[in-house]
Amino acid sequence: MSRPKHTEYKIPQHINDYPTGPQYEAGFLPEKNAGWRTFKPVVNHDECIYCLRCYLLCPDGTIMKDNGKIKIDMDYCKGCGVCAHECPKDAIEMVKE
Ligand code: SF4
Ligand code: SF4
Repeated sequence: MSRPKHTEYKIPQHINDYPTGPQYEAGFLPEKNAGWRTFKPVVNHDECIYCLRCYLLCPDGTIMKDNGKIKIDMDYCKGCGVCAHECPKDAIEMVKE
């Protein structure tokens, strides 16, 4: 699954630069992790049993399988804590950023 592409936001300099429709086409983001995450998930790989519950439940699909380990794409994680809450081994800790 490909991620939305990051497109730098440029402040319009002239009235003609303002879009007449949406600012971006679907599938583009003005910013990765738009700054609303205050806690980030940190995985303890010694405790993780690779059950993939977090992978299945992450509402943003930011948890990936990586050679038998889970990996979190911090560019898109919103810090909701669902993964930590649902982990049966308490292998994910939410840490203040
Ligand atoms: S839910 Fe917990 S034990 Fe299962 S894969 Fe995720 S971190 Fe590992
Ligand atoms: S904190 Fe939320 S968005 Fe981030 S990896 Fe966990 S479930 Fe996904």
